[in-house]
Amino acid sequence: MDCIFCKIIKGDIPSYTIYEDNIVKVFLDINPMSPGHMLIIPKDHYENLDDIDINVLTHINNVAKKMHNLLKDKLNIDGLTIIQNNGDVQEVKHYHMHLKPFYKENKGLNVEEIYQILK
Ligand code: 5GP
Ligand code: ZN
Repeated sequence: MDCIFCKIIKGDIPSYTIYEDNIVKVFLDINPMSPGHMLIIPKDHYENLDDIDINVLTHINNVAKKMHNLLKDKLNIDGLTIIQNNGDVQEVKHYHMHLKPFYKENKGLNVEEIYQILK
């Protein structure tokens, strides 16, 4: 299957990986909406909210809580927005949860610099 996120999981496409276990991988978005913008994806290919396994979804939410703590500790974020797109607004057809930090004051850090802080 020609899925860019499956290729990231296999390691065929590199990514700035922040966290990984048997069920999920968390990596920095290549085109961040804000510094520290990351994606949580299941290692099994599910397209969207309709077909994802409920236990996997629960695990993704547990990992989101962990990543929220990491972002507070390491980047001092002032808020966090979680987005998960489906259907016509979903570009990559492999389920992913966006974690998008908010800062009261702009942080001028690129993806590489953020990776060095969070890794
Ligand atoms: P969607 O609109 O499907 O919710 O968003 C897909 C997201 O995946 C976008 O924010 C986009 O920047 C990100 N993305 C697409 N291709 C890659 C990639 O090859 N590597 C990484 N790290 N992020 C990607
Ligand atoms: Zn996939």
